[in-house]
Amino acid sequence: MKATPQHQSQLIDLQLIDTALMSARHRLATLPEREQITAIHARLATSAAELAIVEAELADAAIDLRRSELEVEQVSDRIAKDEARLASGSASPKELEQLQHEVGTLSKRKSELEDLELEIMMRYDAVKTRVDELRNDEIGLQKLELELNIRLENGITEIEKEIAEKELERRSLVPQIDPTLVELYEKIRASNAGVGAALLLGNSCGGCHLAINAIEIERIKTLDVEEVLRCEECRRILVRI
Ligand SMILES: [Zn+2]
Repeated sequence: MKATPQHQSQLIDLQLIDTALMSARHRLATLPEREQITAIHARLATSAAELAIVEAELADAAIDLRRSELEVEQVSDRIAKDEARLASGSASPKELEQLQHEVGTLSKRKSELEDLELEIMMRYDAVKTRVDELRNDEIGLQKLELELNIRLENGITEIEKEIAEKELERRSLVPQIDPTLVELYEKIRASNAGVGAALLLGNSCGGCHLAINAIEIERIKTLDVEEVLRCEECRRILVRI
C-alpha cells in the first residue's frame, strides 16, 4: 500500500489525538473522587446504622432516668411528710417510734435509689457523648462529600471539554487523509490497544518499542517514501520521519 509522506505524517497526528482521547476517557472513568465518594457513602451508612442504635439507647436511658428521678422524688416526699409529722410533736410515743423507723428505712432506700440514678445518669451521658460524636462525624462526612462532588463535577467538565476539543480536531483531520490509509489504521488500532500507527525511531518501532533487525532496516532504506511500512512485530503502521 502507498500513501504520500504528508498523509503518513498526518496519520501520526491522528494517532496523537486518539492517544490523548484514550487517556482523557480513562481519566474520566477513573477520577479518584468517584472512589472517595463511594467510600464516604459506605462510612455514612455505617455511621447512620450505629446512630440509629445509640439514639434508641439514649431514648431508653432518658426514660430510665426520668423514672429514677420520680422514684427518688417519691421517697423524698414520704420522708418529708414523716419528718413533718415527727416535728409536729402531736404523735404518740408508739407512732413516733414507727415514724423514726420508717424514716430510717426510707433514707436507706433513698440513698440506694440515688446511687442507681447516678449510674443511669452516667450511662445517659456516655451514650449522649457517642450520639454527639456520630452526629459530628456525619456532618463532617457530608461536608467532605459536598467538596468531593464539586471537585468531581469540575474534573468531569474539564476532561469533557478536552475530549470535545480533541474530537473536533479529529473530525477536521480525518477527511484530509487518504481514506484507505485511515481504514487500515482503524483496523490495526482496534486490535492493538488503540495504537494503529507509530514512528520509526532510529531502528526501533515507536509502537512496540522492539528493535527492527538490520536486514529489514536496510530493506526499508531502499523502499519508496510512499510505501506504507508495517512493523514486523506488532503489525502497526510505521511512519518514517
Ligand atoms: Zn512494532
